[in-house]
Amino acid sequence: MLFDLLERLSSLTRVWFREHPKLTDLQPIQLSALMYLERCNRYSNTPLAVTEYLGLTKGTVSQSLKALETKGLLVKTQDTRDKRSVHLRLTEPAQALLDAVMPPDFLVNAAQRMGARAEDLEGLLLELLRNIQQGENVPSFGLCRTCRFHQKLEAGAFCGLTQEPLEPLEAELICREHALPEVTEN
Ligand code: SF4
Repeated sequence: MLFDLLERLSSLTRVWFREHPKLTDLQPIQLSALMYLERCNRYSNTPLAVTEYLGLTKGTVSQSLKALETKGLLVKTQDTRDKRSVHLRLTEPAQALLDAVMPPDFLVNAAQRMGARAEDLEGLLLELLRNIQQGENVPSFGLCRTCRFHQKLEAGAFCGLTQEPLEPLEAELICREHALPEVTEN
């Protein structure tokens, strides 16, 4: 059954992270926050966006972010336009830690053994995720380049929502404002 398979895979992942010698000092939620902040864009690296992405309470996420700051894995910077808003950035040690543990070896090895079928599976899982997001009206946190507001202009990429130019690398990051393209009916 699909649910059993997804549950088994996520518990294997939890165990792998829990037993990793480099991750003994990090709680799972702290690791999830770091992984999210590595993948998200400048509109999405706020405490509120981390809370939305992880689907946890504000208090729990706030405590975890403080713990990460104390460990020297995160820094907070004030928004240049809105002084009440802060952005969270990974420090070099945090980036080095993620580079060392991600993606999990067990998954890379299994995907290599599966060859092209692993790519097919990735496509199917993405389809499953998009289907759930459309059906349940939850935030997509999708890749910028797949957003309905992403425009490719002569001068480079542009966000039609924020009306700001985008750096080339930002196209590959996830965004809390991401919106799936409209489905056109024939
Ligand atoms: S184009 Fe979409 S995903 Fe990219 S920054 Fe704008 S709103 Fe976010």
